[in-house]
Amino acid sequence: MSVSGVRKMFEMASKMKNPIDLSVGKPDFDTPPPIKNAAIKAIKQGLNGYTPTVGIPALRKAIVQKFKNNKIRVKESQVLITGAVSGALDLVLCALLNPGDEVIIMDPFFVGYKQLLLRYGAKIVQIPTNKDFSIDLAGLEKATSKKTKAILINSPNNPTGKMYDEKELRAVARIARKHATLVISDEIYEEFSYTKKHFSIGSVYTNTVTLNGFSKSHAMTGWRVGYCCGPQAIIDATIKQQQFTYVCAPAPFQQAALTALSTSVKKYAKAYKKKRDIVYKGLKDKYDIVQPEGAFYAFVKYPYNADRFIKDCVKNNLLVVPGNVFSEKNTHFRICFATKDSVLRKAIKVLNNLT
Ligand code: PLP
Repeated sequence: MSVSGVRKMFEMASKMKNPIDLSVGKPDFDTPPPIKNAAIKAIKQGLNGYTPTVGIPALRKAIVQKFKNNKIRVKESQVLITGAVSGALDLVLCALLNPGDEVIIMDPFFVGYKQLLLRYGAKIVQIPTNKDFSIDLAGLEKATSKKTKAILINSPNNPTGKMYDEKELRAVARIARKHATLVISDEIYEEFSYTKKHFSIGSVYTNTVTLNGFSKSHAMTGWRVGYCCGPQAIIDATIKQQQFTYVCAPAPFQQAALTALSTSVKKYAKAYKKKRDIVYKGLKDKYDIVQPEGAFYAFVKYPYNADRFIKDCVKNNLLVVPGNVFSEKNTHFRICFATKDSVLRKAIKVLNNLT
């Protein structure tokens, strides 16, 4: 395993004076007040002890309802509350994989996927996405076989901002079904969908583990609450893993997550759509950029040599993440646009001056 490239940028930023920082992927708004109040209330009420490994019953029930909105039909026993999406992903992979098992991921991919798969000794099969970052379905079909233990997808996507549409996801389901392969669908950026309606593959393919959480949607990155659902046998095995590792998600924040589920974040998503527009309009004339459809990232092609470009950005006090953190290739760089409009405008100016 290697040190996260995003963390490296984070450390570099801490040494720079007032950098224009578009590196770390987290929302720039604070946790909405009703959620904070619910957490404080829970702490004051003494709800500070262990909870059941699977999560508090009220939250589990509410998550069943949440998944119903995604047209995913699951029983309470098929839902597990976890230490955010990282916790869910880690434990699901731990429960699922034997060394040498094949797992397909799309390139570019979220940094954590590759490192966790390496940790469990999986054979990673990377399928490069199309130019617009959609899934290369022919490539996926060719790569999927009896040996494929899982296909891991992420939409809306980090680092590209791509959202897979219903047709594309139905095609993925068809390929997975042919080989009875599990799909793991990371939907952490669901709330940040700008151009199309979010579609959950778990609604058409039951052999899917769906991962989601509150870190990004409700600015709760430090609270570590997420959840997953899926086939009973896989969830049961994952529960066992949680029992002896994380034990349970943080008790007061599980209570607060109940409030989060009924707290709309539409106004934040609307603000982020505007930021997406600022970035796209600001860069499209001088850069090769695909308009992001969701999440809060743009994956932009380097205008010239990658190393020279990143150094030039740093010289200009600008931090972006080199694409080789998310990919076998180093053709693009990632911008996180979850920051003030004024910071985005400064960054756009620097970037345009570099070309
Ligand atoms: N999945 C994706 C695609 C992400 O971008 C992130 C965080 O950046 C995570 C999972 C992990 O999120 P958390 O563990 O905070 O829920």
